[in-house]
Amino acid sequence: MIVNENISNNLHYLREIKCRCWRRFEAPLCDGGTLRYEVARLFEDIRTVVSQYLRTVDHGGTPIQVNSALRCVPYNTVVYKDQGLPHPKKPSRHCYGEALDLVCPDGMPREVFWGIAHDLNPQGGVGFYRLWEKGLGGVHVDICESPPSRRWYQRSDGGVEAGLPVELA
Ligand SMILES: [Zn+2]
Ligand SMILES: [Zn+2]
Repeated sequence: MIVNENISNNLHYLREIKCRCWRRFEAPLCDGGTLRYEVARLFEDIRTVVSQYLRTVDHGGTPIQVNSALRCVPYNTVVYKDQGLPHPKKPSRHCYGEALDLVCPDGMPREVFWGIAHDLNPQGGVGFYRLWEKGLGGVHVDICESPPSRRWYQRSDGGVEAGLPVELA
């Protein structure tokens, strides 16, 4: 387990990645988790294309905010509740270090950001979230390839639908 180290050039374990649950503080019930290399690489690919779109490559690239990365199973249940999602039937890809929730960067239309994640992760999962009222409009990406190419989106009433949102379909 690598602690206090950068996962990739632009992902930072302590600040952005590790599980944020209360159990880490009460007792060593949660070690904060370990991110899979492949999802860090996907993050860097997304960041590069976003930086090209926003023409910020020459200025060090675009910081993309990670809303949620690693989660232990109890914390995953709390996050689902906070996001208005149904109770998880099984652990999410976040519990396996295979997923990131990314916030749409300033200056980029959400359809463009979603399209970039969709194009760069053809075999994995991409979920599109619309929690604008909470300031969380963004995209979930995961590298789980079985079953391949899962797509889903959250309706404005909180429900979740399989497939692409109308803006991308
Ligand atoms: Zn935890
Ligand atoms: Zn997610």
